[in-house]
Amino acid sequence: MKFNVLTLFPEMIEDSCKYSILKRAVDAGVISVETVNPRDFTLDKHKKVDDTPYGGGAGMVLMAQPYVDAYESVEKLDNSITVMLSPQGEPLNDKLVNELSSYDQIIMLCGHYEGFDERIRDIISPKEISLGDFVLTGGELPSLCLIDAVSRKIEGTLGKIESADDDSFANGLLEYPHYTKPREYRGLKVPEVLLNGNHKEINEFRAKKSIERTKIKRPDLYKLWLEQNNNS
Ligand code: SAM
Repeated sequence: MKFNVLTLFPEMIEDSCKYSILKRAVDAGVISVETVNPRDFTLDKHKKVDDTPYGGGAGMVLMAQPYVDAYESVEKLDNSITVMLSPQGEPLNDKLVNELSSYDQIIMLCGHYEGFDERIRDIISPKEISLGDFVLTGGELPSLCLIDAVSRKIEGTLGKIESADDDSFANGLLEYPHYTKPREYRGLKVPEVLLNGNHKEINEFRAKKSIERTKIKRPDLYKLWLEQNNNS
């Protein structure tokens, strides 16, 4: 998977991919992360990428020309999608992450300040994706979330031991609780069933806990899961 990120702050993206599992995936060639800075495509000597909004109002608007030129400079693979990080987009969830992981390349546009000149949307026609119903200062953090979440779905990013099969949302439910050593901490004991080595009982316990906690923490997901599994 190739990620190309259009950003005014390339170090934010590059530095964040130098740790842990993402670094390992980059080093192994499973993913690649490249940045393009629209500031390098400005035509004036001050390298200006934003200007005041027509019609007045607060904040600065990102100018179309540097973003469109930066976008057009990116070499596109056949199986590629262009994403604009935006609070006005489709909320990112596991289903959308799975869809995105089927592409060979994701080109991402990170906004800043008041956001993009509307003509950037008109010309590039990106899929707008939001991290949620709140407003961040820039698109770099959401694009990193997207890179991270999509990378986990690409074969070779996670080791066998880190498999995502049991993760929350994979089967429509939240994941069961985890415990590690010691067996007792501040009077709280690890459930006995996890210590007896009986895998059938362990699986049953985990399935039950997974359902229980989804019902409590995410009744919306639980309802969907019930409908999909024809349970009552
Ligand atoms: N004025 C815009 C609006 O109200 O829709 C918000 C602009 S925001 C301050 C600057 C940039 O941060 C956006 O262009 C976008 O790239 C990014 N951003 C902010 N909130 C986001 C969110 N919830 N999801 C994805 N990107 C977001």
